[in-house]
Amino acid sequence: MSSECGKLYVVATPIGNLADMSFRAVETLKQVDLIAAEDTRHVKMLLQHYGISNKLISLHQHNEDKASVGLLEKLREGLSIALVSDAGTPLLSDPGMPLVKLVREAGVDVVPIPGACALIAALSAAGLPVTQFSFAGFSPRTSSARVAFFSERLLCPTTWVFYESSHRILASLQDMAKVLPLDRQIVIARELTKLHETIVKSSLADMLQLVEQDANMRRGEFVVLVDGAAIDKQQQDITPEQQKILSILLTECSIKTAVALAVEITGVRKKLLYQAALAMEKA
Ligand code: SAM
Repeated sequence: MSSECGKLYVVATPIGNLADMSFRAVETLKQVDLIAAEDTRHVKMLLQHYGISNKLISLHQHNEDKASVGLLEKLREGLSIALVSDAGTPLLSDPGMPLVKLVREAGVDVVPIPGACALIAALSAAGLPVTQFSFAGFSPRTSSARVAFFSERLLCPTTWVFYESSHRILASLQDMAKVLPLDRQIVIARELTKLHETIVKSSLADMLQLVEQDANMRRGEFVVLVDGAAIDKQQQDITPEQQKILSILLTECSIKTAVALAVEITGVRKKLLYQAALAMEKA
């Protein structure tokens, strides 16, 4: 693309503590021609704090497809644009994906200006394995969808992480306890970088009790991290999680098919699963 085009800067902003803004982020927001913001009133407070006055344009989940086309035009005219969300890194459970995709596909440069992100901050302090992890965004809003969401992740062998709101944190843990073993390790990272920052690691059972009993544990913003399932292919017995999978499969298929599928899903030896399936059928 011609050098006359502007650049799109994807700028991370703080997730609570205003001091978490990088020098480069401040410089970028000062120098660009235009800032595309999820909520222009919200970003004005940040800009004021850093003595930045710049033109703002709104880009949120309800207008981003249309607004992105207009912003690409401006980049083609040679304007440089910064994209910011209300908090943290744009695109991470925030608007911006359609814009970045469109701009990249048009061959215009997209430049990340890294900084705060609740997901990464939580992972860095949780003490759960991080070599591999998966991020699931926000958990679903309804109980039945959440049960399905947790069931899909029951046997995930790596750490998995989701965002949760104060309205649903308790219900979410209650649904998790319907599906996951109660001794599974959980970390709640709450109000990161803020005055009441709390990072707690415990079993699911203890976490549920804590959140039920302590109203403060239901306030603020949350990242929930879940330890991966231990999968031992040499095991002599099948775990409660694996039994649950087998029993679900048995309600839908014949013993032969249920066992074959359970072998695929769990990696447990066929003989063990077959014996367990026979016992379940008998019971
Ligand atoms: N783009 C942001 C990021 O980089 O983390 C996340 C935006 S998403 C709309 C907002 C959610 O992120 C909150 O509901 C909460 O789950 C999580 N979050 C944001 N700030 C947080 C904080 N300070 N402490 C804990 N969780 C936070």
